[in-house]
Amino acid sequence: MHEFTIAQGIVDFLRETYSAKGYRITSFRIALGELSMFDKNLIIGLVRELIKGTELEGAKFTVSIEEATIKCESCNQIHTFKELTKALSNDEKEMIHFIPELISSFARCLSCGSRDLKIITGRGVMVTDIAVKKA
Ligand SMILES: [Zn+2]
Repeated sequence: MHEFTIAQGIVDFLRETYSAKGYRITSFRIALGELSMFDKNLIIGLVRELIKGTELEGAKFTVSIEEATIKCESCNQIHTFKELTKALSNDEKEMIHFIPELISSFARCLSCGSRDLKIITGRGVMVTDIAVKKA
């Protein structure tokens, strides 16, 4: 159950970084990487449950999906995951979702044709757009 660990980590981070210093968080956004494989609705439910009874109760939050981007190490061009995998079959796309490193086995840089591709965003989880008030 990775979602629980992630949700707990986000709540702990916000409480330690802001609440403990006297700030009240009014809203925040959780950006889930397109390739992170986390269940968005599960994260929403867990965070809602975990902030109950804490300083974060009442804070508004949203969860959005962060688009994955891939850099070509040969020509430095950056492409989105969607662009690079558009021509692939659904099976291939699914495989890359499970093992993102496989992108270099299936896709090529749209600018120079190289397979030297590196995933730069879209695998992790971030907390952004944190709005605070001095409590
Ligand atoms: Zn390239």
